[in-house]
Amino acid sequence: MRRRTYLAGGASVLAGIAVSGVVSQPSGNERLLEAAREPPDTGEGSSNTEMIRPGTDHETPLYEIDAPNDGPTAMIFGGVHGDERSGIEAAHEISDWRPDAGTLVVVPETNRVAVENDERRGADGDLNRQFPADREPRSELAAGIWDAVETHEPDVVLDLHRSLGVYGLHREFVGQAIFHSPDARGERLADRLNEDAVPWYLPFHRFTARESSLTGPLLFQHAARELEASAYIFETTEFLLDHSTMVELSRLAAAHVLELHGLLERGGGA
Ligand SMILES: [Zn+2]
Repeated sequence: MRRRTYLAGGASVLAGIAVSGVVSQPSGNERLLEAAREPPDTGEGSSNTEMIRPGTDHETPLYEIDAPNDGPTAMIFGGVHGDERSGIEAAHEISDWRPDAGTLVVVPETNRVAVENDERRGADGDLNRQFPADREPRSELAAGIWDAVETHEPDVVLDLHRSLGVYGLHREFVGQAIFHSPDARGERLADRLNEDAVPWYLPFHRFTARESSLTGPLLFQHAARELEASAYIFETTEFLLDHSTMVELSRLAAAHVLELHGLLERGGGA
């Protein structure tokens, strides 16, 4: 536990909330983020870009970054919902990261038509409801995304989202929560994010981890079910948080997932 200064800092930030309605936070774990951005000491590794559904309206790039050392494969998605800009922006940035071990695969604009239109759904409805159990994906786009997942055989999947409200506080909203497959490290991830980036004066913004049923039609559920990947859906919230804070929480979630699963070796907090 870090000691925190309660009085002076807290009072001024609370005043900030009252005035502006949003909170902008400094970065919580620069050492870990630096480890993610810098190539490992053992070498540069290599990277490769391919297209999902090339030549169609859905064409969208997939970035593969191979570390110089063997390790697991992690796949990170942004833009499954096209209007959730924080995950898209974080995923673009993550496509330039350099893991220490294994392979990092990033799809920043998974539903590219929806991203271009700045809307949740694309031409074929909500992409994150198109991966049903024991059936084929429900749209051409979902099939293209799933082909890419099967090709890369990820050990770890992280899908970046944002909600309007806060899980447990606002009915029907799921912000500041991590839903995960039974074998994933959701509790640990929530603890680390709370330690790094959620100040004491925002108690409702502390992250919650929930083990998810794997019977549903969400992309992360399908990856856990079909490939036995350790899978996460990460949800931050627009409630009281500004855009840069949501991006920061998304990039920290990705860095911690990579570290928890052995793609990043350094940095790391608790
Ligand atoms: Zn979403």
